[in-house]
Amino acid sequence: MSYCASRFSTVRRPTVEVMVGSVGVGAAHPLRLQSMTTSDTQDVAATVQQSIALAEVGCEIVRITAPNVAAARCLQAIRTQFTAAGFGHVPLVADIHFLPSAAMEAVEHVEKVRVNPGNYADKKKFAVREYSDSDYSTELQRLHDSFTPLVKRSRELGRALRIGTNHGSLSDRIMNRYGDTPLGMVESALEFLRIAEAHSYKQIILSMKASNPKVMIQAYRLLVQRMAQEDMHYPLHLGVTEAGDGEDGRIKSAIGIGSLLLDGLGDTIRVSLTEDSVYEIPVARAIADKAMSLWRGAKQGAGGKEQGDDGVDPYHFTKRETATLQLAPDVTVGPEQPPRVVVRAGADIAATLTQLVASKLKDTPAEVILVPVDATTRLTQLPDPGASSYALELTPAITLAELETFAAQLRPGTILVRDFGATDTPALAGFAQFVREHQLILAVSLTPADFPALASTLRQLGDERLLFTLNAPRAGLTAPAHATGAYRRLAAGLRSLGLRAPLWIRNTTATAVRGDPSFLSKLLEASFLTGGLLCDGLGDLVSIETEADAPRATRLAYNVLQGAGARLSKTEFVACPSCGRTLFDLQTTTQRIRAQTGHLKGVKIAIMGCIVNGPGEMADADFGYVGGAPAKINLYVGKNCVQYNIPQAEADAKLIALIKEHGKWFDPAPAPA
Ligand code: SF4
Repeated sequence: MSYCASRFSTVRRPTVEVMVGSVGVGAAHPLRLQSMTTSDTQDVAATVQQSIALAEVGCEIVRITAPNVAAARCLQAIRTQFTAAGFGHVPLVADIHFLPSAAMEAVEHVEKVRVNPGNYADKKKFAVREYSDSDYSTELQRLHDSFTPLVKRSRELGRALRIGTNHGSLSDRIMNRYGDTPLGMVESALEFLRIAEAHSYKQIILSMKASNPKVMIQAYRLLVQRMAQEDMHYPLHLGVTEAGDGEDGRIKSAIGIGSLLLDGLGDTIRVSLTEDSVYEIPVARAIADKAMSLWRGAKQGAGGKEQGDDGVDPYHFTKRETATLQLAPDVTVGPEQPPRVVVRAGADIAATLTQLVASKLKDTPAEVILVPVDATTRLTQLPDPGASSYALELTPAITLAELETFAAQLRPGTILVRDFGATDTPALAGFAQFVREHQLILAVSLTPADFPALASTLRQLGDERLLFTLNAPRAGLTAPAHATGAYRRLAAGLRSLGLRAPLWIRNTTATAVRGDPSFLSKLLEASFLTGGLLCDGLGDLVSIETEADAPRATRLAYNVLQGAGARLSKTEFVACPSCGRTLFDLQTTTQRIRAQTGHLKGVKIAIMGCIVNGPGEMADADFGYVGGAPAKINLYVGKNCVQYNIPQAEADAKLIALIKEHGKWFDPAPAPA
C-alpha cells in the first residue's frame, strides 16, 4: 500500500475533518497556517499581544507552551483576553511536554492540546535499556493510564488533540525497540492513537517532526502508509523542527513541507524559524498557496493510474545509481560525487564569469556555466571558463555539420544540451555519435512522453557520455503543474530502459508552480523541486535558472543542496524556534555563534533554548549549545552533556574550545584582497 495516490501528480489525501474550535482541518478545508508564541506564558499580557500579532498577519491557529500547571492555568486568561480583543475565532493550542497534569489543566481552556508521545508519560533519561515483551506491555498499560484521562476530557469538551512526535525525543521504550528511526517515530504516535481510538475519540491531528527533512519526509510517508493499513485517516500537521533562520531555515522548511504537499499530504503547516514568529506566516502562506493551486487542479482521492517505477524507496534514502561523467578535471558527476551546480550565464558571458569571480564563491563555485547558443558564431566568443565546464544549450536549428567546424574549440567534458522529441531519433543518434568522437557530453532534454518512441535508440546508445533532463515546456508544465512528478517519470523512463545516465534538475519558470517573481518564491520553488527530488536520491546536477543574478543563483543552489543534506558547503546549524521555555535570546545567540563558526564545513551545531526538550530535539548534531538555567549554558558533544551551567558570557569560547578539542576546528581563510 502506497503513501499517496500518485507519485506523478498531486492528489490531495482524503482525511477526516478535525475541528479545532471553529477552524476545520483536513477533509476539504484549506491548508491551515499556524505558529507559536515565544513569550513566557505566565506573562499573560505579552502572550496575548503576540497571539494578536500572529493572528493579524494571517496565523489561523496559535500555539502556546504550557511547561507547568501554573502556565496552563494562565491559558484561561489568555483565551479570555484574546477573545475580547476580537480573536475568538482563532483557536489556541497548548503545547505540552512531560506533564499530564499541565495537559489536564490546559484542556479546560484552549481548543487543542499537543502532546509529545516521546515524553508525555515517560521521564526521558536518554538511557536505553532492554525491554522484555512483558516489560513492554506494562509500559503500554502505564501509557494507557496516563493518556486516557486527557482523551476522555477532550471528548467531553469537544477539544482536539495533536499527537506530535519529534525525532529527537522518542521514549527509551521506542528507542529500544525501533531505534532513532522514522519507524520508531511512527510507532510512537500509533501507541497513542490506538488508545484514543479505544475511547472512540477521533479529533486527532498528527505530526512527525525532525530537523532533517529527509527523516521528516520518510516519517510522514510511513505514518500515512501505516494509518491506511489500520483504516485511519487523520489529518497531518507538517513541520521541519529547528530549521534555523534566514534563507537556510526557509529552504529546509520548504523542502520538507513542500515535498509532502506535492504528494498531497498535509492539512496544516508550521514553518519554524529562529526569528520573530510573525515572519513565519508569509513563508507558510506562500508554501500553502503553491500547494493549494496544485490541489485545485486535481480531484481529491483520484489518480493513481499513471504507471511507472522511479526506483525510489519512499521510506529509506538511497541515491540513484549513475554512470560517471567527467565534465572538467575537477568536476565529476557520478557515484560518490556530490550533485554539481550549473549556473546560467547572462547575455554577456564574460561579464557573468567576472561577476562570479568577484563574488568570491571560493567553496561554492559555479561548476558548469550554462550558455544558450542560437548560432555557432557564439561558440567563437566563449571566454575561458577556468575550472568550470560549459553547458551549451543548442537550438534545434543548429546542425551537426555546423558544429563540426567548431568542435576543436570545445574542451573535453563540455555539455551540449539539445531537445529531442519523439520523431528525433536520427538526430539523437547523430549527436550521441558526435559527443563520443569529440569527448563531449550530451544532455538529452526530453519529456516522459517521448520515451516510447525514443526507447530503442536510447537502449542502443547506453549510458556513454549522456545525461538527461526535462524539457519542461514540452512536458506541458504550464502553471500550476507538478515538475517533481515529471522528473520522477523521467527517472522511471530511464530505469525502464536500464539507463544509469545522470539526471539534471533544472528550475526554470516552466517548472514553477505559480509565476511569482519574488526571491522567496524562487527559493521555495527550488526547495520544492530540487530539494524534494534530492531527498529521494534523484539528481546529479542542479540549476536554479529562475534567478538571473548568477552569484545569487549559485548561492541558492548550494543552500538547497545543504538543506537537502546532499552537499555540505558550510556549517550546519540546527536552531530551535524558541518558545515560552527559552532561557536565552535565541536569535542573537544563533547569529553570534554563526559569525564565529560558520566556516566549519560539515560540522553540525545545535542551539537549543532549553534543557527540557532541547537535548532530545537536537538529535544528530556534533555539538550542542543548550539553555540549562537562566543565563547558564550546557554544552554537548553528540547527545552527551560535557559541561554544565557555564555562564553565558563564557559559553561561546568554551564551545569553540570543545570543537578544537574534538579536531573539528580550522581557522577561517583570510578574506581575499
Ligand atoms: S528546545 Fe526551544 S522550542 Fe523546543 S521547548 Fe526548548 S525552548 Fe522551546
